[in-house]
Parts: sequence; structure tokens; C-alpha cells
Amino acid sequence: MMIDGKTRTLGLLGDPVGHTMSPLIHNTLSEKLGLNNVYVPFHTKAENLEAAVKGAYALNILGLNVTVPHKNEVMQYLSELDEGGQAIGAVNTLVRTENGYKGYNTDMMGLLREVRSYGVELDGQDVIILGAGGAAKAVAYMCMSNGAGHVYILNRTVAKAQAIADHMNDFFGNQSITAMSIQDYHKLPEKKYIVFQSTSKGLYPHSDEVVIEDPAFYKLVSVGIDLIYKPFSTGFMSLCRYAGAKSYNGLKMLLYQGIIAYELWNDITIDEETADEIYRKLLKKTRDNIILTGFMGSGKTTVGKLLSERYGYTFIDTDQYIEEKCGCTIAELFSKKGEAYFRQLETDILKELNASLTHAVLSTGGGLPLREENAAELATLGTVIYLQITPEEVISRLSGDNTRPLLSGDDPEQKVRDLLTYRTPLYERVADLTIPATGQSPEYIAEEIISRM
Ligand code: NAP
Repeated sequence: MMIDGKTRTLGLLGDPVGHTMSPLIHNTLSEKLGLNNVYVPFHTKAENLEAAVKGAYALNILGLNVTVPHKNEVMQYLSELDEGGQAIGAVNTLVRTENGYKGYNTDMMGLLREVRSYGVELDGQDVIILGAGGAAKAVAYMCMSNGAGHVYILNRTVAKAQAIADHMNDFFGNQSITAMSIQDYHKLPEKKYIVFQSTSKGLYPHSDEVVIEDPAFYKLVSVGIDLIYKPFSTGFMSLCRYAGAKSYNGLKMLLYQGIIAYELWNDITIDEETADEIYRKLLKKTRDNIILTGFMGSGKTTVGKLLSERYGYTFIDTDQYIEEKCGCTIAELFSKKGEAYFRQLETDILKELNASLTHAVLSTGGGLPLREENAAELATLGTVIYLQITPEEVISRLSGDNTRPLLSGDDPEQKVRDLLTYRTPLYERVADLTIPATGQSPEYIAEEIISRM
């Protein structure tokens, strides 16, 4: 990114801001679209909020995002509010105008774009909102302004649900929202609902916790959307899926709230292909899986087990996983069904794991990253680490190992050299991190990975 005299500044006001993914979204967009903008976090304490907004305007800052705890307080320092921001009582995006900043709530618009991206329409549909915090208020407004049928807000503190219901029923001039205690879920009319999980229960590291545990509740769900995106697959989502409903997390909400803010700041429309590219980057950033790749004998399994112990993650060896699924060894699979069959099985398993795997260390078969389809899966599964090893080291480590089908036949040493020459660029293509493994102990390699990550 080239900063020059014409660069425009965008940024985030919040406290804290250390874990934000917004710079990733906006700086990637600027780079991809060739726009001369730079996006930076501004750690802003509550007592400095007014000065920060006025100072930003004086410094000709093009636009800002606002995050916790300033989404409500910031409104008093703005020149204008869009209807959503006004109704919800919170804004997360400030757009520069001639008279000051105008506030928008792109969280709500982002969630709507996410919902539509799944082909789900709210029009006429009954909705359940779990939770009654800031996010739930935005969800309630989104439902009401997009023609939803009846909306039930269920919360632990019923007074908070009632306050949102009263406010929105007043705002829209009807009685379409009912507030309930979350314990009374069994009193809901028996039908199918779109359900938004907007409590903070289930956020990492309390990933398996859910506000309603009873499987009977999930029979009411047609589509379940959890606003949480870390973990990637939540307990709420699993229960929805188990009951036969579709379920999604909130990562696309995060994506689209950013995309919409960027569109507003720059007065442009961003196409789906670009949005998808940013989504893949976010996916990669939010998935905490570690994937070890490299040639046979590079130490993926031993190092993987050490890493899984250190992080407390599940360890999966893809070859072993396939053997368990098929009830035979890889060597038997190769000889009975051929290599093409095995490769397809590897791809199918990788896709299956990619659908929901979190907190895992994956040791992959040496040929797995070679397929284009597999490279695409790895790009969103987590951090890919390539354990780089020389042919001489492979030969010395694997001498006498006759369980490797690819090394059978005449002159296995030449075969290793040829395979490594062919595979090295393919391993490098998928790697986020390359670790030289020749002459190093598994313990050293594991420590090196931990320090580099
Ligand atoms: P909030 O204002 O703090 O509200 C939290 C809500 O969760 C309240 O309804 C609270 O109930 C409920 N809750 C918390 N712990 C609970 C427990 N143990 N049992 C039952 N209910 C519990 O938070 P928020 O800003 O609305 O955010 C809610 C969630 O949405 C968070 O997980 C956040 O990460 C997510 N979110 C995602 C995006 C995105 O871009 N994907 C954007 C915004 C928010 P009480 O009222 O009874 O305390």
C-alpha cells in the first residue's frame, strides 16, 4: 500500500480495538479496488469520544467505524442519523458529509445481506430472537422493516426484551413483537420460525454452551442464524442441524457490515466476487485450526501431536482417518481401488472436516495439497504450515519403511527426489508458514511453529 499526499484515512473508534478484523476487510478492499485509502484502529477512551469525532472531522478523515462501548454515545456528536441508526439507537459507521458525520447501522444491513445471501426472505416469516442486547435490537428492527410476521424476543432478563418490543412496536405502529422469558420457550406457538441467536452465550471459549438446551425447541427452527462467528460452528448451530434445520454463523454479517460501510464511504458498489475474496480472508483469520503439510517423513504426525497437546486441540491424521473410515490400510486401498479413488476420498474428507472443524491440528497426507480442490479447502480451514525437508533426510528417515505405497518399486531414492521436485511448489502454494524441518527434532519444530504463530 502506497501512502501519498492524496491518501484518505478511514478508521475505527473503540475500546478495546486490539482484536478487530476491520483493517483486514478495508485495507484488502482498498488494495483490491485500487482506492487510495488506509484504514487504522484508533483506541478511544469514552472520555475522549467527542474530541475524537470532532478531531477526525477536522483532520478530513473520510469515514469511521464505531465499536463497543461507543455505538450509542457517539450518536450525540453526529450531524445526521439514518433511519436504522435512529430506530436502533446505535450506529457503527460514520460517513463524512458537508456538515459533520452521518451515522448508519451497517450491522443490521450486514445481517440482512447475510440472510439474503442464503436465499432466506423475512417477508411474512415468523421470527424468534434469542437475546435482548444491542445486537438483538438491530435484529428486531431488521425483521420489522423487512416485513417479518410475528417476532418473539426471548431473553434471560425479560424486562430488556420488553423494552425492545415496546420501542419497536411504537416505532412501527403495530404490536408485532412479543417479549418473553427465555425459560418460556415451550409456550411458543407450534410452527416453524427463523431463529436469530443473538446472546453472547456460546462465544469462544465457552463454545458448547447454549441458551436453550432442550432439543424440542430446535424442532421449531426452519433456519437458525447465530450472530457469533467464533467458534465457527456453535452449539446452537449443531442443535439446529441435528433437528434438521439449516444453520449459519455470523461471519458473513461481519463481512457485509464492513462491505456496506466501505460502499457508503466511497460511494461505490462492491460485487459479490470481491465480497467473497474478503470472506475467504476472514474465514482464514477466524479458523484456529493448524494444518501440517509436507512430504512423507517430514514429521507432520509427531509434530502435530505435540502441538495438539500444547494447544489442547483435537489431533487428526487424515491418512489414519481414512483408514478408520474404510476399515483397511492406505496400502490396501491403493492396491485394491487405485490412487485416483484414494485422492477423491481425501478430498471428500477434507470438505467434510472443513464444514465445521475447529480447535484441531490436522496432519495431512503428503499428496493432499496437490489437488486444486484441496488447496481451495485448505485456504479456509486454518493456518497451513509446510514442514520443508530435503530428499536426503526423507530417505534416511524412511529407510526400511515398506508401508508407503509411493515408495515401492525400483529406485525409491530417485522417486523421492522426483516427487519432491514436483511437489515443493505445490506445498509452498498452500503454505501460510514454511518451517525448515531437516535435522531438527519434533520438539524444536513444534516450538518454532508456536513462536512463529
Ligand atoms: P450484549 O448487548 O452484551 O447482550 C448480550 C445478550 O446475551 C443479552 O441478551 C444477555 O442476556 C444474553 N446473555 C449473556 N450471557 C447469557 C447467559 N449466560 N444466559 C442467557 N443469556 C445470556 O451483546 P450484543 O452486542 O447484543 O452481542 C450479542 C452477540 O452478538 C455477541 O456474541 C456478539 O459477538 C454477537 N455480534 C456479532 C456481530 C457480527 O458481526 N457477527 C455483530 C454484533 C454482535 P441478559 O439481558 O439477561 O443479560
